[in-house]
Amino acid sequence: MIAVAASKTPATATGEPAKCPTCKGSGEVSRTVHVGRKRRAVGQQTGLCLTCLGSGEATD
Ligand SMILES: [Zn+2]
Repeated sequence: MIAVAASKTPATATGEPAKCPTCKGSGEVSRTVHVGRKRRAVGQQTGLCLTCLGSGEATD
């Protein structure tokens, strides 16, 4: 499916937007934080979901 023009609210048959599979609708994802040359994991940080850009809705 090719969507050139981005639509903020994708219409679905049910009228309910599908949840983003990456963040499961929360719009945020936790990612592991690495520091130093050895890329040591120091913890996790919550960041904006890049799949749905924080909207929590799946985009096609
Ligand atoms: Zn998402």
